[in-house]
Amino acid sequence: MRNLREINSFAEGLEMTKVHNFSAGPAILPKEVIDQCISALQNFSGTNLSLIEVSHRGAEFVAIMDEARQIVKDIMQLGDDYEVLYLQGGASTQFLMLAMNLLKTKAAYTNTGTWASKAIKEARAFGEVDVIASSEDKNFSYIPKGFSIADDYDYFHCTSNNTISGTQMKDFPTCGVPMVCDMSSDIFSRELDFTQFDLIYAGAQKNMGPAGTTLVVIKKDILGKVDRQIPTMLNYQTHISKGSMFNTPPVFAVYASLMNLRWIQSKGGLSAMEQRNTEKAQLLYSEIDSNPLFKGTTAVEDRSFMNVTFLLEDENLNDSFLKTASNAGISGIKGHRSVGGFRASMYNAMGLESVQALVELMKNFKR
Ligand SMILES: *Cc1c(COP(=O)(O)O)cnc(C)c1O
Repeated sequence: MRNLREINSFAEGLEMTKVHNFSAGPAILPKEVIDQCISALQNFSGTNLSLIEVSHRGAEFVAIMDEARQIVKDIMQLGDDYEVLYLQGGASTQFLMLAMNLLKTKAAYTNTGTWASKAIKEARAFGEVDVIASSEDKNFSYIPKGFSIADDYDYFHCTSNNTISGTQMKDFPTCGVPMVCDMSSDIFSRELDFTQFDLIYAGAQKNMGPAGTTLVVIKKDILGKVDRQIPTMLNYQTHISKGSMFNTPPVFAVYASLMNLRWIQSKGGLSAMEQRNTEKAQLLYSEIDSNPLFKGTTAVEDRSFMNVTFLLEDENLNDSFLKTASNAGISGIKGHRSVGGFRASMYNAMGLESVQALVELMKNFKR
């Protein structure tokens, strides 16, 4: 038996090895979720078989898929006019799939970053694409506003949170055509009126689950309007008609996503997530603004509450700051090469204490 002193020093040792995971994606998940996955990998739902070695047509997994689809509608407060799919191929496949299913003649896009640019490029294979607003002129450091969307577009596409540049749409335009949104990096992070969107998609690995599945939420009445032949696997109707089980679904990623969505609900849903995320973001941005060594990279009103991008005034100190961070157990804050400096991604599962650790480090960082 360990005595109290040994237990305490053991606990301190654990404390010292805690890693604060600021990775942009694949990203942090709640410890409870990881534990549930470990347990399901060993014994899934009382089967004495692993989650990843049972039939996806068995009652146990079918129940998981059904709940995983329903819980998204519950959290987003959507009705039966919407369908929820767990697909594969990442958000990157959605760039082409949504255009293939929705683009008849022309679509309107905003270009707010690297991912938006890729979505535009893919859509151009299927029709005319008008970039009706862009922030490319200033390295995507702001969200363009004040544009209007003509009624003759097949749809309007936007990116709610720009993972690389660190900007986020706080408001969405009123739109007389179907509104499609790439929410990969801020899905389930805040309260929104989700009924304003007709198609929402998100690679799970940022704020929803592990890599391997892509969430697609779709209002059914926008489908069936294009004349082209759509390959079976790339047709949303295929997956809708089979309850997201047309072919073998990514069982592990769906399971882990469901555990995380249950976690979100148990914590109080999107209003609780928004409160938590706002608190973390305010703490870090206020340090960036008050510490003379650092500066933000984006327009203040468009700052992302998920991916915080910032620079050192003296970029020669970058390596030294990264090294100090790594010694303090702070992981994943190196900025994307297109922005430089640092990026702290603070998805739902990150606790305030991790942001406090980063802020402490910034305060103490001296030349
Ligand atoms: C990461 C990301 C993507 C790409 O997702 P994949 O699942 O890797 O294809 C697309 N859009 C946004 C906003 C992202 O953050």
